[in-house]
Amino acid sequence: MYRKNAWEQYSAEERARLNAFSDAYRAFLDNAKTEREAAAEAERICRAAGFRNLDALIKTGEPIGPGDRVYRKWMNKSFMAFVIGRQSIERGMNILGAHIDSPRIDVKQNPLFEDESLAYLDTHYYGGIKKYQWLALPLALHGVIVKRDGDTVEVSIGEAEDDPVLCITDLLPHLAHEQMEKAASKFIDGEALNILIGSQPECGGEKDGEKAEAKKDAVKRAVLSVLKRDWGVEEEDFVSAELEAVPAGRARDAGLDRSMILAYGHDDRVCAYPSLMALADVDDVPERTLCAVLADKEEIGSVGASGMNSHFFENTVAELTALLGYEGELAVRRALQNSRMLSSDVSPAYDPAYPGVFEKKNQAMLNLGVCFNKYTGARGKSGASDANAEYMAAVRRVMDEANVCWQTSEIGRVDAGGGGTIAWLCAKYAMNVIDCGVPVLSMHAPWELVSKADLWEAYKGYCAFLGI
Ligand code: MN
Ligand code: MN
Repeated sequence: MYRKNAWEQYSAEERARLNAFSDAYRAFLDNAKTEREAAAEAERICRAAGFRNLDALIKTGEPIGPGDRVYRKWMNKSFMAFVIGRQSIERGMNILGAHIDSPRIDVKQNPLFEDESLAYLDTHYYGGIKKYQWLALPLALHGVIVKRDGDTVEVSIGEAEDDPVLCITDLLPHLAHEQMEKAASKFIDGEALNILIGSQPECGGEKDGEKAEAKKDAVKRAVLSVLKRDWGVEEEDFVSAELEAVPAGRARDAGLDRSMILAYGHDDRVCAYPSLMALADVDDVPERTLCAVLADKEEIGSVGASGMNSHFFENTVAELTALLGYEGELAVRRALQNSRMLSSDVSPAYDPAYPGVFEKKNQAMLNLGVCFNKYTGARGKSGASDANAEYMAAVRRVMDEANVCWQTSEIGRVDAGGGGTIAWLCAKYAMNVIDCGVPVLSMHAPWELVSKADLWEAYKGYCAFLGI
């Protein structure tokens, strides 16, 4: 099957729009390196686009109707936005669903220790990473520390030009003979992923004879004074913190031709951003109710109260139906069952450097546009939400009519491995759902690559989908 390269079709005017959209996406990435920051950024974007906080309406019971734009943040880590359509919500919604968590290195609850006068944070990595890729990289620390009294300290250190950065050290090649023989999965033990955060001892004050005692953990104590000074927190406060180490630095244009973007967390912000913008850019009253949901915890199986396997989305749809004047559960079930959804998630792009794991004619290629995965899964489609042929035909028609460049893909060769998305969790409601997202090179690496053309085609595709 011939698929045209997306770049071939652009007018000068469309190229300018594509570039402006890519610039805005890069800015979004820089402001949204964690799920919390992405949810906050989504809220900012939606408020600017005239969306109202659904929680305030739920409190007052203020009825809503066609044309209303509402959003809801869930536990500060997931986000939903809706534009109410003319039709009854019981006839279903058009839903774009992406995730805003990305693989990273989380700080443990009792993390701080000193070893040979170096202070470290102990970590537990989050999601599918190749551990060795995270060594000897500048890292930034993002997240929250919630003190016992409920006060929240927002942490972001390592991003500003004059901020310090952190890092996990690697072994020099001169002494790595034994290490280099190891399988990549064993190259570094998960328990050895310790973030070096200080080396300067607290000094002065000790009397003769107390020296040895005073020197014990002097670096750790010095780090604790910095934590107290800068954030007003104690060591105990790590217990109620969520701190995430991510690669420090901004998203960058990539390639001499600037056709790509290199960044942390494209999976899945490269789909979350165009999904949200497609919804925010709806400017008239739609026929069907439209929705974008940006979920947390996809990278660890969509579990937890802010993951797609929780009832937060269903509960929110129930709140909507109530404010729209429907009584009872049936309206919620109908609204979900009659919905159609694009599970906006990334696909691995064919990489000419690793041909052995791909099946070329069924693999997403960079620049061939937004990519549909009828199914994902592993070992014989296990865990896949295999979309219906009828639904695939419907979305294919919509994409063609809107002149969207699109392609289809599998994750890779049948026996090479696999993975999943949030699609199967939404399929539980018996709605039609198919995976549809942007191809990514170096997926799940600290720095991932996407094509600006694919990002743009995803935005166009999502707009077309919302318009049906
Ligand atoms: Mn993903
Ligand atoms: Mn992923």
